[in-house]
Amino acid sequence: MAPTIDPKVPRHDLPTPEPESPLRSRKPYRFSTLCATVENPDQKDQYGSSSVPIYQSATFKGVGNVYDYSRSGNPTRSHLEHHIAKISSAEHALTVSSGMAALDVILRILKPGDEIIAGDDLYGGTNRLLTYIRSHGGVVVHHVDTTNPASVLPFIHPTKTAMILLESPTNPLLKIADIAAISKDVKERAPDAIVVVDNTMMSPYLQRPLEHGADIVYDSATKYLSGHHDLMAGVITCNRDDLKKAMAFTINSIGNALAPNDCFLLLRGTKTLALRMDRQQATSQLVATYLHSLGFPTHYPGLPDHPGREIHERIAAGNGAVLSFETGDKELSERVVGAARLWGISVSFGCVNSLISMPCVMSHASIDPKLRAARGLPEDLIRLCVGIEDPVDLIDDLEHALIDAGAIAFDAQQNKYIRVVPSTNDELNAAVQKLGLAEADQQEWFVSAPGKIILFGEHAVVHGVTAVAASVDLRCYGLTTPRNDGKLSVHFADIDNFYHEWDIESLPWDAVTPLAAGEEHSDVLDQVLIDAICAGPLADLGEDAKSAKAAALAFLYMYLMLSHPRRSSFNFTARATLPVGAGLGSSASFSTCAATSLLLVNRAIMLPPPPQPTSAPADSSAPHVHVSHQGRRFIPPTTAEQVNKWAFVAEKVLHGNPSGVDNSVAVFGGALAYTRAGFSLGGKGGMEPIQGFKSLKFLLTNSTVPRDTKKLVAGVGLLKTNEPELVDSILKSIQSISEEARRALADPELSRVELLAALSALINENHQHLVTLGVSHPSLETIRATTAAAPYGLSTKLTGAGGGGCAVTLVPDDFQDSALDSLMAALTQEKFVPYLTSVGGSGMGILSPYTPPNLGHASATVVPPDQVTPPQTPGVEPADEPLGDLRLAFEKQGGPQLAQWADALGRWLYV
Ligand code: PLP
Repeated sequence: MAPTIDPKVPRHDLPTPEPESPLRSRKPYRFSTLCATVENPDQKDQYGSSSVPIYQSATFKGVGNVYDYSRSGNPTRSHLEHHIAKISSAEHALTVSSGMAALDVILRILKPGDEIIAGDDLYGGTNRLLTYIRSHGGVVVHHVDTTNPASVLPFIHPTKTAMILLESPTNPLLKIADIAAISKDVKERAPDAIVVVDNTMMSPYLQRPLEHGADIVYDSATKYLSGHHDLMAGVITCNRDDLKKAMAFTINSIGNALAPNDCFLLLRGTKTLALRMDRQQATSQLVATYLHSLGFPTHYPGLPDHPGREIHERIAAGNGAVLSFETGDKELSERVVGAARLWGISVSFGCVNSLISMPCVMSHASIDPKLRAARGLPEDLIRLCVGIEDPVDLIDDLEHALIDAGAIAFDAQQNKYIRVVPSTNDELNAAVQKLGLAEADQQEWFVSAPGKIILFGEHAVVHGVTAVAASVDLRCYGLTTPRNDGKLSVHFADIDNFYHEWDIESLPWDAVTPLAAGEEHSDVLDQVLIDAICAGPLADLGEDAKSAKAAALAFLYMYLMLSHPRRSSFNFTARATLPVGAGLGSSASFSTCAATSLLLVNRAIMLPPPPQPTSAPADSSAPHVHVSHQGRRFIPPTTAEQVNKWAFVAEKVLHGNPSGVDNSVAVFGGALAYTRAGFSLGGKGGMEPIQGFKSLKFLLTNSTVPRDTKKLVAGVGLLKTNEPELVDSILKSIQSISEEARRALADPELSRVELLAALSALINENHQHLVTLGVSHPSLETIRATTAAAPYGLSTKLTGAGGGGCAVTLVPDDFQDSALDSLMAALTQEKFVPYLTSVGGSGMGILSPYTPPNLGHASATVVPPDQVTPPQTPGVEPADEPLGDLRLAFEKQGGPQLAQWADALGRWLYV
């Protein structure tokens, strides 16, 4: 299709010949003529030199002359700037020492508190500079998918939005932003905002964004404008006098204007810009068509199936000379790049010589692979930057490289080269991943996470003693179900059956400072966002809904941070087989479920492709033994770590200053030893998994006596002040108990009987110390006495803060079922709530999305009761709006069967 703009005719025809006669109208010069003609009527050369001289002088003599000092102005630079303005349809041009220097000058227009809306797929250096001004300049940066103008709208604020930063096409995937539409939207909604475009990929020859509503355009002139990779330079153009004045002030102040020698070289380069570009993009079209016809997925706006083609044709006058393609296999791509001869392996583009590179191992290697995947940047992508060599030679060389690498082969039947599709499963896997990615927010995600108990060292941990914590096989479950009605809802079945829904657009998006690509949540919570959530979506919840409000706050905080700009509409239902508020880490398992679900919906984590039937056995070197879940370890540790970071954020929202133990256990499962940093008793601080932890059977008895954790902790602190010797000796004893337990749990030599005997003794000992510290409670002593009495003879200790809450009783493997039944009956009779559970099992789990949940099977099958007796989970009334099958079944699940029901749904994948 013919371009709608004639590249040969810039709209702004600066110095053009005067009409020769009234009969012959004045015609503007065409682009290549303007490029080649360096002429400034206001700056005639005294000798009529054909080439602008290099004024290699820092100072100029005289007073009150045009030039006095080269930082402020230099004749060679003036010539260059005049020339650049002319070919860019601009009133003003400024030239600086690099493309990044140009952006730096532009960004200095901003003030602290201003907001920028920028693309989420920008040149890496641009991202780096934006991150810097965000942390050092108090500027709020919103990264948005600018290839969709609608996704920009919610971020435009009439007064706060000060700048929009666009790149089109992007590098290396050639994605297109509608500069004209976005500029119009911005001007209508935030009239003072400045639209800035990085035009490096196109050059003024192919795209002049000032003609489409941009206020400032900059180019890395290191690329096409100079064309020879022999200098670094940046150019800035604009039509507004005030903006020019502000930027010229900065350049004069900091002294990053382009030096005279480089001005000369750049001026020389621009003379051939149109000529080079014509050749380079004509060859690019041939190369792209060649690769496309072989069946390689090829990214180039000149191809008929390019998704942004129509917009690009409206705004630009050509497709440029950068393209990329995928081979389907990273190693194959590496072989292709290595086999090329004429195509030089190098970063950058815009040179007369053709270049080949693999962004994921070169220019974009510094970006986290997960992030590259999230941005849809294929690992096997090859980028081609086409030069001015003969197109036949270039395609010939590429063909040889493809043949040498095994990417294409001659097909005798068809009498031509055809693409060899990689024989590994990688392509299939990539397709599956892409499918999973595309549908992440349109599918149901069912997740779960365990609670935790402290086996040894509670209270003492506050004073630097090592504590041993382990996962407990009572879990929280979370289900996301797509809604597609512009609403977000939560249903917390165990917190008074709390249900609430919000219009997604009514959420306080304005208060969100989304994380830049690759950026992690900071150590401190964003109080502005928390306040905005409390004052907005949660404002109507009173004191009576305190727990639900806290859970909703944690959920909404993560949703707002993570859902930029997707804003998915779904329901999140959470319910647990874990007693809430009994010191068993229910909030951490909830936080983990919420974090996992939100990361999955927002594609921030992905599951690996489904395991093949012949897949290797679970990795035995990983830290936890997963007895209770058949060792189906599948979720990669890096994914688990990401979940853990967000679960910790949620824990911070819920508790202010959590230790991080609960969420780590909920995510990783097994057991770990934790010592607070900065205290002497436990040696170095931190968390260490206990390798080879053996799953143990415990009776967990909820005294149902509420307790005040803060008061209990303060009481121990007071005792330590009043009786330091007593408390210090107790702390030392507890430290050795923890160390002994840790050694025993990890000791492969110890027999099961020996281990249980050792732990029983340590449990009794630890409990007595807690009694001396004053944190037991008569109810806990009753539980201890009941379990210790004949014929049971079991060891029990309080767990967590004490003063009520839960007690844990170690149950030996050979303990008779009948004895267990009668013990549980005895405890129940005393109005306690006992659960039989296992400790040290799997961490966070996700129901495999690769097979549909087995609803029929789940409801029909009675799973043989293993030895776990989770608490009653009330059946809840389903909400009004239509529920998915799984959600319906989940919300209807009442009684103690929730865990078995969930287990029978399908294949669960664990950390
Ligand atoms: N913008 C884009 C799109 C780029 O590709 C580059 C460099 O590769 C720059 C800006 C930065 O330019 P420079 O390297 O001249 O500072």
